Amino acid sequence: MKKRILIIGAGPSGLAAAANILEMAANEVEVTIVHMGHHVGGKAASYVNAAGEHIEHGWHMVLGFYTRMRGLLARAGISFDRAFSSMRGQSHVYETWSKRLHTIDASGSKVAFAARFSQYDGLPFGDRANYSRVMADAFLFATSGANLLEHDDICFDAWAQERGLREHVTRYAIFRVLREGYFNFPERISAYHALQTLRLMSDTQKAEAFVCRGEWSETVWKPVAAYVERLGAKIIPYTMVTDFIYEGRRITGLRVSRPDPEGHHHGASSWPKGGIPREANSDHALSTFDSVISTIPVGVLCTLNQTDQAWWQSPFFARIKNLRSATTLAMRIITKEPVRQLMGPVFGMRAPLGIATDMTGHLTEKHGPGSVIDFCGQEAGFESWSDDAIVDFTLENYARTLGMKPIARADLSWLEFHRNASNHEQLLLCEPGVNVFRPGAKTPFHNLFFAGDWTRNDVDVVCMEGAIASADSASRAALAYLSQI
Ligand SMILES: Cc1cc2nc3c(=O)[nH]c(=O)nc-3n(C[C@H](O)[C@H](O)[C@H](O)COP(=O)(O)OP(=O)(O)OC[C@H]3O[C@@H](n4cnc5c(N)ncnc54)[C@H](O)[C@@H]3O)c2cc1C
Repeated sequence: MKKRILIIGAGPSGLAAAANILEMAANEVEVTIVHMGHHVGGKAASYVNAAGEHIEHGWHMVLGFYTRMRGLLARAGISFDRAFSSMRGQSHVYETWSKRLHTIDASGSKVAFAARFSQYDGLPFGDRANYSRVMADAFLFATSGANLLEHDDICFDAWAQERGLREHVTRYAIFRVLREGYFNFPERISAYHALQTLRLMSDTQKAEAFVCRGEWSETVWKPVAAYVERLGAKIIPYTMVTDFIYEGRRITGLRVSRPDPEGHHHGASSWPKGGIPREANSDHALSTFDSVISTIPVGVLCTLNQTDQAWWQSPFFARIKNLRSATTLAMRIITKEPVRQLMGPVFGMRAPLGIATDMTGHLTEKHGPGSVIDFCGQEAGFESWSDDAIVDFTLENYARTLGMKPIARADLSWLEFHRNASNHEQLLLCEPGVNVFRPGAKTPFHNLFFAGDWTRNDVDVVCMEGAIASADSASRAALAYLSQI
């Protein structure tokens, strides 16, 4: 009889785990995926819902070093070149001292990623040499084979200052780019995360950024899900796990709640802060498995087994409680008339929506004559602002940043704004000292394995590639366990 693996979650890590397992052992193993949403792709999904609204957690890019993700897409039959469009090595940073955008351009040249930073002209002349020397040192260190993990308990600002960066240089927007990229603004980012990013993006090819030419769900995640179904996986939506049931060191069941599909046409983004309310039928239990891979985001995991003190007081789970996640914000606008277009993301804009990307030239579907601009950022410090206040502030700020005439709401043909406040939408903060609390694939339960962008993996930075890397170790560990029972 085939062994049964239950995967919780149909985001990048859950889908990748299912693909790995079935590619390796379809004759010996049966895979079922349960997920609480109605769209596969987790936080990386984007789609147009029944009401015609564009739903997403935020603009996503794929970087050149995402080799596992590209491998998964290729196996699922997705042509990367058709699905993605390159931003041609360009990004832009707004510096308040110069009140203008400065472009980092590595297009066409085979330069090291750090060289992009050291060629940056957005600093006053007197700080440029200091900044570029420290960034070059950081890059050399990151790619030297040194154990970067040893630098997790210090923030990147302090790490750089220890190596001679002048304190005030940390306040320039260019220095905040890595922090913003991981949604750690306004908080500090661990030096490990910043250095690991420099290592992963060590040359122009690995640092090249791509965007999806259409909705992520249609273009990427649904075809990946169809692939794992062809391999034999069963995918069950609207199944939210609320508790693990266990005996000794074995998970024997999962308590689940079944949110009503009809009631959630607006997708996960419209569920209330704190997650979906537990429903009357939440004692419905699943127990038809030999092993479980959980890709539940840490914010949700911490709400499971609420009344089980032994669970949360055990050293393994107590440590997980130290992990904090952030509420991100996402906004898309479509203007009636074209506005100034830039290739590549703009960083350094004023919070809360500090990153903007003009998607007009990248999307296959035409959105009329205007421009399509995606914004994302973090909510911290702006919790009390109304959606309208954030939208108006951002429109004004974007126009000022790009030096163009003000954008009014009347100039827009489309506006979407989302706060990703529910715990299943939040993203792990890569703050200093965080890594010791992140678990790997193995747990104290012999048949329970963890995966997801927040778990330890060999990419380790919080992104789709990290989620997919984590699925490699979890699927190998689950198969090894099953081969022994
Ligand atoms: C605003 C924003 C921008 C981002 N930009 C980028 C980017 O540019 N590049 C990049 O690589 N990454 C980006 N990311 C990160 C990326 O989205 C995540 O790293 C990735 O989606 C993590 O995949 P995952 O499978 O680990 O988790 P998730 O995508 O969160 O998937 C988790 C799955 O578990 C399900 N689930 C959750 N709780 C339960 C439960 N209790 N029971 C059952 N199912 C459950 C969910 O429905 C989902 O299917 C961004 C994230 C955000 C929020």
